[in-house]
Amino acid sequence: MGGPDNRITRYVVAGGGSAGWITAAVLARFLPPSSASITLVESEEIGIIGVGEATVPLIGQLNALLGIHEPDFVSATNGTFKLGIEFADWGETGNRHFHGFGDFGEDIAGLPPHQYWLKLREAGPVAPLSEWSMPWAAAQRDRFAPPQAMKGEAAEFRHAYHFDAALYAAYLRRLAESKGVTRTEGRILEAARDGGTGLVSHLILDGGRRVEGDVFIDCTGFASLLLGQTMGVAYRDWSEWLPCDRAAAVPSSRAGRLTPFTRSTALSAGWQWRIPLQNRTGNGHVYASRFLSDDEAVAQLLAGIDGEVLAEPRLLRFTPGRRERFWEGNVIAIGLAAGFLEPLESTALQLIQTGAMRLLEFLPCGTPDPALIAEYNRQTALEYERIRDFIIAHYCRSRRDEPLWREVAAMDLPETLAHKLTVWDACGRVPLYDLESHQEPSWVSILIGQDILPRHYNPRVDAVPEDQLRSIMEQRRQFLAQAVQRMPGHDYFISRTCAAQDTA
Ligand SMILES: Cc1cc2nc3c(=O)[nH]c(=O)nc-3n(C[C@H](O)[C@H](O)[C@H](O)COP(=O)(O)OP(=O)(O)OC[C@H]3O[C@@H](n4cnc5c(N)ncnc54)[C@H](O)[C@@H]3O)c2cc1C
Repeated sequence: MGGPDNRITRYVVAGGGSAGWITAAVLARFLPPSSASITLVESEEIGIIGVGEATVPLIGQLNALLGIHEPDFVSATNGTFKLGIEFADWGETGNRHFHGFGDFGEDIAGLPPHQYWLKLREAGPVAPLSEWSMPWAAAQRDRFAPPQAMKGEAAEFRHAYHFDAALYAAYLRRLAESKGVTRTEGRILEAARDGGTGLVSHLILDGGRRVEGDVFIDCTGFASLLLGQTMGVAYRDWSEWLPCDRAAAVPSSRAGRLTPFTRSTALSAGWQWRIPLQNRTGNGHVYASRFLSDDEAVAQLLAGIDGEVLAEPRLLRFTPGRRERFWEGNVIAIGLAAGFLEPLESTALQLIQTGAMRLLEFLPCGTPDPALIAEYNRQTALEYERIRDFIIAHYCRSRRDEPLWREVAAMDLPETLAHKLTVWDACGRVPLYDLESHQEPSWVSILIGQDILPRHYNPRVDAVPEDQLRSIMEQRRQFLAQAVQRMPGHDYFISRTCAAQDTA
């Protein structure tokens, strides 16, 4: 393996979707061409999945790392800004709540604001908790400015993006190639293993070409050509908790103002996404095929679209879950080749980003180190499981009266989630584990948002006199309303700073 001292010098990335190009760009950022060669193999004929248009704020760290200039990136990908997700009809029909990229204000006497909100809620009618969220204050008025343009408490939020997935892959490709990544066009027919070590030694492409390497990163999408098919690593199926297994996706013409948020609307057997881009809107319906036919799913999707439909709906099938291991021998799977969780919280690109960064952290300098491989696998598995639990939490206390929703409300939960909800029910706290992607305000947004309230608020809340409490809470609401007045409209901000050059 590798160059002098057995060091790994030849990195081969199989697949050129978001996973492949993010991984290649990250490797190129840290491994100078003098010490490593990075080759990416992809097949135009097979193409990429091309959905994946909504992100989470962690992507800002990736962009900073890669030296990506935000206006340039947003403009090149027909992008818009995202302050969170609006949920409609989750929990029960008519419910509306927001998971914003921020919290509900500073702690009051050592307790988070939602504890005080619970007390007010007990005392009588109170405005929805989202009224104390800076992202929601801006989002509901279609306003946007990046946090660095705001001051003090008004800057306490984060943002992410919506973008065109194909343009994003092309953008990353240009970036990675400029940093020395070599792209090879071709269909991979086989990954050949060394008879003695069992490690992958080379890829065999159509026409008999060979691509040799020391480490192979499997970004071949759902095919999981190297980790799943060649190394035989099994898939752990999570359908028992996440019954949705299909999606129908369709673009529509842009309608109205650009909302700085993703919308997710619960439907009879799944949910529908709406993602605003500068030139069009991305729409999709994620559903459980046990409860809805493809034709019915497409009909529901089309009925919920607010622009002109621009293409034939595309149907996609998936199995929620993850590979038993993500790194086996000298193969590491990233992206859809590693696992899939429905895009309810837009976490797939995050998992790619953290996978690529973790790979760098645990990449062996000599022969693969079993302890480092085990640690990579442990951390990655936990990250998937935490996100899985968060997604299940959106479903499992539903009061909707349709077969899918009745089933998920009655199912046995993973132990980790059951414990979280038991603690929540008792006292309104969310116990957090190692490698959580979502902190307490995110859980609170979903739980209180769906009217899943604990039996008690924290009794320490009573130490703050009610009048004083109402005044503190009201001050923050007013402060947010005023702060948002200073933000430009989302449309205006985009037109002034990052309008797309090509909106075809
Ligand atoms: C319905 C749906 C909605 C989604 N929405 C979101 C979202 O809003 N936000 C989000 O973060 N994520 C979302 N995702 C996930 C996101 O699309 C993917 O995680 C992301 O695009 C990465 O895909 P990938 O690169 O792993 O796979 P792909 O895009 O499928 O790329 C696979 C690559 O491997 C290549 N390849 C495969 N086989 C071969 C072969 N034999 N030879 C050569 N090359 C080969 C292909 O040509 C391609 O380049 C969504 C996914 C689905 C299914």
